Amino acid sequence: MTDPTNDHGAGPEKNDHGAGPEKNDHGAGPEKNDHGASPEKNDHGAGPEKGRGIFDKDLLDRCISCGFCLPACPTYALTGEETSSPRGRITLMRALETGRLDEDDPTLAEESSFCLGCRACETVCPAGVEYGLLLEQWRDHQWRGRHRPWLARLLMALVSRPWLLRLQGLVRRHARAGDSPAGKPSETQTAEEPASLMLGCVERGLYPKVSRAVQQLCPEVTVPPGQGCCGALHAHNGDSRTGAELAEALGERLPGTIVTTAGGCAAHLAHHLGRDRVRELSEYLDRDGHRPTGQVTVDGRRARATLQDSCHLRNGLGVSRPPRDLIAEVADFVELPGADRCCGAAGTYSLLRPSDSRAVLDPKLEDLDHMDVDFIVAVNPGCLRQLQQGLRRRRSRVRAVHLAEFLVMAGAPGAVGETGAQEP
Ligand code: SF4
Ligand code: SF4
Repeated sequence: MTDPTNDHGAGPEKNDHGAGPEKNDHGAGPEKNDHGASPEKNDHGAGPEKGRGIFDKDLLDRCISCGFCLPACPTYALTGEETSSPRGRITLMRALETGRLDEDDPTLAEESSFCLGCRACETVCPAGVEYGLLLEQWRDHQWRGRHRPWLARLLMALVSRPWLLRLQGLVRRHARAGDSPAGKPSETQTAEEPASLMLGCVERGLYPKVSRAVQQLCPEVTVPPGQGCCGALHAHNGDSRTGAELAEALGERLPGTIVTTAGGCAAHLAHHLGRDRVRELSEYLDRDGHRPTGQVTVDGRRARATLQDSCHLRNGLGVSRPPRDLIAEVADFVELPGADRCCGAAGTYSLLRPSDSRAVLDPKLEDLDHMDVDFIVAVNPGCLRQLQQGLRRRRSRVRAVHLAEFLVMAGAPGAVGETGAQEP
């Protein structure tokens, strides 16, 4: 099969793994797109190319094929193949849209799945390409019906059942309405600004202590009952319409500011409900200069801790400083090299593509081995699970813990800390 992403008729372009943006083959400024002309033109420079209506044309046309995004892409770093880069994938999307590639082309299926959806490419793109939205549109088409991986279908079906989510609360005791220690407003919130804690469909079952830690940190935050899934899982797995509907429904269920402990959910909700409605926990705590008290200690000394960014929190919402500042208040903060690069969890990715997921994670764990830190802090349950499993495989002494639990460990030693950090 001809490589539809290779504009130059040669072998796959290699990633130089160097610093700055990669030069194009002509060694000059931004490369023209594969048509050598404005994106509206067809291959022959004639009139507008007809589309299948799979993608939003404005989004797809925005890419200028400059290649600045290639060094930022974790899957391109793994393979060095143009098809596994953001630019290559956008070329595939264009080929799908115009019919130059058959819908059943195996490269389309493979690359729509191999992409982590981490959105690191968006942060370096000079043309403002909203790659995350393009990927959602791609998967909406590519993963429709039975083409969606069965495991993703199963997970989406499970989290769409409110009774099942409620059952998790009976088995694993997450935060509930009325559980707040004192119910008193803290300095982070005024009475005119109610705030609701979003429990998250995965987190409430896997890490119920995270929401309880938030109640200790922010007693003014309420925990409305009957919460469903926010829909991020659906949007990232080829059903963005249900993803939007679930976000809207949750927005109606949760009054005021929605506080989340999951970067991926925060970005999805902010997209559908508006940025002002949603605050990831570190943002919420950081507001008005609120600071945690105490310190986390290990063997009688101040702990050393690092952070793994949440891709969607950092790349989607631009939040990276608050969690670092909060950790530095209660421990010695050490920056993890490549903390801004995906850990390989990527929603369902670690389940759907376990070996690729590990390949993305492993360099990070190797860096951690040489860092002399006690903790790696996560701001997303998927990242937390990925890190815990990776560290366990390596028998590492470093412990992965959610930010909420880490801060509670500082202010109320023994309340959540030691056992909370060991959850699966
Ligand atoms: S996505 Fe952005 S950075 Fe990447 S090739 Fe297109 S315009 Fe350039
Ligand atoms: S979302 Fe991440 S993995 Fe996918 S193309 Fe962009 S940088 Fe690469």
